[in-house]
Amino acid sequence: MIEVRGLTKRYGDVLAVDDLSFDVAPGTVTGFLGPNGAGKSTTMRMVLGLDRPTSGTALVNGRPFASLAEPLREVGALLDPGSVHPGRTGRSHLRIAARSNGIPQRRVDEVIDQVGLGRAARRRIRGYSLGMRQRLGIAAALLGNPRVLLFDEPVNGLDLDGVRWIRGLLRRLADEGRTVLVSSHLLSEMQQTADRLVVIGRGRLIADATTEEILRGL
Ligand code: ADP
Ligand code: ADP
Repeated sequence: MIEVRGLTKRYGDVLAVDDLSFDVAPGTVTGFLGPNGAGKSTTMRMVLGLDRPTSGTALVNGRPFASLAEPLREVGALLDPGSVHPGRTGRSHLRIAARSNGIPQRRVDEVIDQVGLGRAARRRIRGYSLGMRQRLGIAAALLGNPRVLLFDEPVNGLDLDGVRWIRGLLRRLADEGRTVLVSSHLLSEMQQTADRLVVIGRGRLIADATTEEILRGL
């Protein structure tokens, strides 16, 4: 469960997130839809404790991220492909992430299988396609078997197979009762993926309803 209440983030003159409130319930894929610059990444970063809100709160399973006892076991995220060391193999990247978060090493091979990285896991990340990088990022998000998952624009740059795969994965994760928030700037993508949509523009909430209700209202 994610609860966002009055969340606001100001960067100088820019109000990136403006008094945003919404819930993400377990067992659903919730799409976070809005044009580029709408404030989706900033919101996700605040949920993950990577950015401090100017005001308002974001709770994960009833608590602020900073007070979670085992953050990586409660919430996993795919954000911008940030700090992967290109000279490492995908597998060593995951091994290090597991070790530094107290996650058992056997999870590494489980998530490599789960995301279909296969033999590529033993090659260096610098040779990875965008799709393989996305799979690796998702594998890292799944390592701690978290109940709450955030994916920021996971289909960006993927081919049709990759897009279908992510859709199926999100569905399975939600069917397992997990809380899944996935951002996109494309309604066409979200209408095939999400049960609910939280729509934002210029940092403000525009709509929060089932995907069906939102499509009917267009
Ligand atoms: P989205 O993820 O929906 O594309 P973002 O959350 O990345 O939107 O950005 C929302 C707004 O906040 C944009 O106007 C962006 O330029 C601004 N912004 C995001 N991060 C920063 C930052 N670190 N410093 C200044 N402005 C930022
Ligand atoms: P323990 O024996 O202390 O539970 P485990 O190695 O079984 O240690 O796993 C520790 C934690 O790692 C689990 O509580 C769970 O959060 C996560 N985990 C590891 N492997 C799995 C798995 N296959 N399925 C689900 N969660 C797992």
